[in-house]
Amino acid sequence: MDLQAGYPYSLVKYGLPNDYPKLDRDLRTTVAVIGGGISGALTAHALVQAGIACVVLDARTVGLGSTVASTSLLQYEIDVPLSKLIPQIGRSRAERAYRLCADAIAALAGISKRLPGVPFDRRPSLYLASYQKHLSLIIAEHKARRAMGLDVVLWDADTVKHTIGLDAPGGIYSRTGAQTDAYLLTHGLHRYNIKKGAQVYDRTLVTHIRHHKKGAVLTTATGHTVHTRKIIVATGYESLQYIREKIVDLRSTYAIAGEHGETATPWYENCLIWETKDPYLYLRTTPDKRIVAGGRDEQFYSPARRDKLLKRKTRQLEQDVRRLFPHLPFHAEFSWTGTFGSTQDGLPYIGEYPRMPHTFFALGFGGNGITFSQVAADIVCRLVQGRKHPDAALFSFSRYKG
Ligand SMILES: Cc1cc2nc3c(=O)[nH]c(=O)nc-3n(C[C@H](O)[C@H](O)[C@H](O)COP(=O)(O)OP(=O)(O)OC[C@H]3O[C@@H](n4cnc5c(N)ncnc54)[C@H](O)[C@@H]3O)c2cc1C
Repeated sequence: MDLQAGYPYSLVKYGLPNDYPKLDRDLRTTVAVIGGGISGALTAHALVQAGIACVVLDARTVGLGSTVASTSLLQYEIDVPLSKLIPQIGRSRAERAYRLCADAIAALAGISKRLPGVPFDRRPSLYLASYQKHLSLIIAEHKARRAMGLDVVLWDADTVKHTIGLDAPGGIYSRTGAQTDAYLLTHGLHRYNIKKGAQVYDRTLVTHIRHHKKGAVLTTATGHTVHTRKIIVATGYESLQYIREKIVDLRSTYAIAGEHGETATPWYENCLIWETKDPYLYLRTTPDKRIVAGGRDEQFYSPARRDKLLKRKTRQLEQDVRRLFPHLPFHAEFSWTGTFGSTQDGLPYIGEYPRMPHTFFALGFGGNGITFSQVAADIVCRLVQGRKHPDAALFSFSRYKG
């Protein structure tokens, strides 16, 4: 699959932080992780912390799948608002999903602390009503989040205007949020995991999996084999190569990064900003004082069509930012596009897939894919040990309705 194009800010800024070898021999391991993006890196981290030997194999140069395209906002807010998720899957499951994402941000803070050079900044988030008619959603959403104990404040139009200078009918200000750089975090994790005994190979495509009674044998494009007891599939949107059901709707999304130094504190607390309309615009700032913005999604997966639109989408996103903050000197310096996907209930698929024995999926789909990747890492690490996880059912493949 063609997952991203253009100049992702993280790649321009950080280049190749780490090199990894190609697999050039046969191996034996306890767990083979297919995919070395943020999901594979977090999963391998959970495994090494649990003392489980693992080998990570990635077809690309590490990080150059969806991960490098990420704008790296860390939110507990799932693409489906809590107030809409409750009638869809029930109150306790919906609240649990939101709680797990909030906990994942705290877990990512703890993990990042041990990784030199990986940025992690706590940031509140502001969820704005795009139109007057969306105010009822904001009010219902605030009520639902408060009811489950999340630290949220309802802002009316005056408070939004007075605090952040924006014209919006209202919004939810939320203390729990953060930002990182998913690409650097991935490399930081691999460096840490390797020190703890994990092996990471990139430019190593797994072309064939043979399952047997006690495990599986993976074969790579160069004919090398990895004998393993268990497999964890962390191949992002390319996991559709293993799954028959259409569990995710693929679309195309766009992002831009402004020039450095343009903004010291451009808006209140440098909070993460997003809004209710679909597709939504979202913004954050970077440590080198840029504004990163994204959105303008298109409902198709076609890399050629997606890339053709990049120039126009860049202009539109630039105008979106300027319209919001007319006083800011904003110029898009880098722009990129990526494939993106959402599920029916906004939740990812994690855990066992019936057609593949000894195999567990760690997929982080949707707008907060990174927090889901952390949730997935925790769950699959437990499952791989033959233990149960109390939250596994929430993300199970069995909930797929077709
Ligand atoms: C423009 C954009 C902005 C985004 N912004 C955010 C955001 O602000 N916050 C957020 O949380 N999420 C965001 N996301 C989503 C987030 O980036 C993804 O959820 C996340 O990067 C997925 O990581 P992954 O490791 O699962 O997949 P990937 O990064 O795609 O990694 C999977 C890896 O598997 C490898 N692979 C596939 N098949 C094989 C095989 N057969 N053999 C070996 N290797 C294989 C691939 O080479 C790839 O490197 C954004 C996405 C895009 C495109």
